[in-house]
Amino acid sequence: MNHAPPALERLLARISSRADDVAQLTRDLIRFPTINPPGDEYGPCAEYLGERLRKRGFEVAYLRAEGAPGDTDRYPRINVIARRDSGKPGPCVHFNSHIDVVAPGEGWTLDPFEGLIRDGRVWGRGACDMKGGLAASVIAVEALLDEGLDLPGVIEISGTVDEESGGYGGVAWLAERGFFSPPRVDHVIIPEPLNVDRVCVGHRGVWWAQIETRGRIAHGSMPFLGDSAIRHMGAVMERFETRLYPALASRHSDMPVVPPEARQSSLNINSIHGGEEEGFEGLPAPLVADRARMVIDRRFLIEEPLDQVKSEVRDILEDLTRERAGFSYELKDLFEVAPSMADRNGPVASAAAAAVRRVLGREPQFVCSPGTYDQKHVDRIGRLKDCIAYGPGVLELAHQPDEWVGIQDMVDAAKVMALATVTLLTRVR
Ligand SMILES: [Zn+2]
Repeated sequence: MNHAPPALERLLARISSRADDVAQLTRDLIRFPTINPPGDEYGPCAEYLGERLRKRGFEVAYLRAEGAPGDTDRYPRINVIARRDSGKPGPCVHFNSHIDVVAPGEGWTLDPFEGLIRDGRVWGRGACDMKGGLAASVIAVEALLDEGLDLPGVIEISGTVDEESGGYGGVAWLAERGFFSPPRVDHVIIPEPLNVDRVCVGHRGVWWAQIETRGRIAHGSMPFLGDSAIRHMGAVMERFETRLYPALASRHSDMPVVPPEARQSSLNINSIHGGEEEGFEGLPAPLVADRARMVIDRRFLIEEPLDQVKSEVRDILEDLTRERAGFSYELKDLFEVAPSMADRNGPVASAAAAAVRRVLGREPQFVCSPGTYDQKHVDRIGRLKDCIAYGPGVLELAHQPDEWVGIQDMVDAAKVMALATVTLLTRVR
């Protein structure tokens, strides 16, 4: 391990002594069951975080995303941004964490909202994704203040909502109002769970779409009098298998996506339905299906333009329209996000990487996330490119039952965050 100047050695030692603090803060955050949807307990969780930082001299703002999807008086979309200005000119380093969690689901062997601390881990829904990361960033910043390093510039910590449902009431809403753009903010670290020794520079793109095939209804005993939309959909599936999937598998990317299986284009058939209503019970009526619907979830690479991603699906549907008697379709866009990738030699990625080397004594891995997260809004709406995800959680534990975060990983991540902050606030620009 490299030797840091004495002041930084003291800073690291101070963070080492805060293991109990980071575990307790994570536990306290887990105890707010901020389940999304519907978006429970956002206000109390935001206030808990804001109150802790206000006591440390942060200026704290609570921002309700009025008009955002899901925002109601029962489920207000409340975000918190805490800002501490040193009074000396310098850049702003912003730590952004989402405070919402997904529903616990089945399979837990412990209470998902107790925040049990056991075996060097904190357990519960959101431990890994991403209240442990949020706690690490708070401990990092508090240790910097306690150390009295007299740093220039500004530090911000935000707790934002709705990341799990697209971020529209959270980072997107705030970014539209300038909270994630220069000159207010210069560097963003999002402590999502990508593993303590990885620096995540971006994510793949997403396109969700719905394909509907049409047929003609008839009596099921005389299907020749109708035209089955389900058989037409079967023809679509067949083209996917023989044409689209092989094409996707042959593509390679310079994006270092993890896990390695996700380092290519992917297509998930999210749902497919045709004929008798789903959820219906009893004997079906004898009918030829006149409609079938499929929802696809296409994840794409920075090398693939979105119009090409869309046209290779549309081409299959157009070919079928020409080649297959009675085939007609509708293709509807549901949702899309372009891929995002920050420069790994940019200020925030290189500062975090150097800090990983110093704290963990090993080479950091630069990665991209298989799915998207709020970096998309910082990039596209905020037009701020210097953004990474870096946090202590283990990627594969996100959204799983018996989710946990390692206390030592949080301590190490807090050290990396603190050192990276020092580097970013003091770098010569
Ligand atoms: Zn997350």
